[in-house]
Amino acid sequence: MKLSEIASQDSRLFAKGEFGPASDTWPALSFSSHKIATDFANTYRRDHDFVLYVGTGDPEKTEDPAHRQRLLSVLSVEPRAPISTRDLVPADSWERTTRKWGIRWEWSLPIIATYDVAGFPRAHNTIPLTYRSLGNLPSLGRCVPVQEPEYRVLLGLDLEPVELHLSERAKVVLALNTDNRALRGEISRLVTMIKQDVAAAGVGRTGVNPMRLMPNDSDVFSVLMQRWEAQDGMCALCDRPIPLKPENKLLQMSRDRTDSGNKTYDWQNTRLTHLACNLGKSDATVDQWRDYLTMIRSA
Ligand SMILES: [Zn+2]
Repeated sequence: MKLSEIASQDSRLFAKGEFGPASDTWPALSFSSHKIATDFANTYRRDHDFVLYVGTGDPEKTEDPAHRQRLLSVLSVEPRAPISTRDLVPADSWERTTRKWGIRWEWSLPIIATYDVAGFPRAHNTIPLTYRSLGNLPSLGRCVPVQEPEYRVLLGLDLEPVELHLSERAKVVLALNTDNRALRGEISRLVTMIKQDVAAAGVGRTGVNPMRLMPNDSDVFSVLMQRWEAQDGMCALCDRPIPLKPENKLLQMSRDRTDSGNKTYDWQNTRLTHLACNLGKSDATVDQWRDYLTMIRSA
């Protein structure tokens, strides 16, 4: 197949210098800083844009001579939130790479589909302008836009699909990219409230700049989303479904802190509940709450 068959009219192409073709050994588009990863995630449009891996000319980095200075892979990534590379790549790949290079590519976007470029053509024969612009940057740094005049030759490249087997953690992260807008909206609302709690607690209790204690938005989102999955959409206090955007405000999603003493860190122990259940339980113990539930249910 050709890239033109999976690309659309408005697809944009980016190039990045790499060690080798994308595969199960390293199913991640990795960056040296969270900022660079986030900037790219904000630019990249899933299902529209593609990244082209180009082997570096450095034998230390691109060990296989057949990959050096060649077009290697065309791939799609999940851009919602950069995650720790360690959670995406197999343990032995991570160990081997960090032993050689230290921890240098800590943040990644998971690769959701990848294709080998048939025959690994030479980069300076196919995309000389883009290849030169890659050389102007520190190697293995950013994704650079492919130069417009070189789109045509890339769209005509023959590609061979490569099957990827994602880790459990990568699957969880991909599952977070729910199409359910109401659910995303509700979880985002709770993320904002939790961040306000943390900021207030940071000022009140420790006098430390709250920004230093501030969890990353995507981490809080990810934890809450995993709670939603684990609870199967049920309230942690009454075990009944939590409706999204209900007419009745008492049924809306709320977060219950298991240890309300430490507002700074206990967002990780948050459970999702109905607002009414959360207000009802307040600071009572779980046993006291169960006694109450038993009473109203036996009526
Ligand atoms: Zn409830």
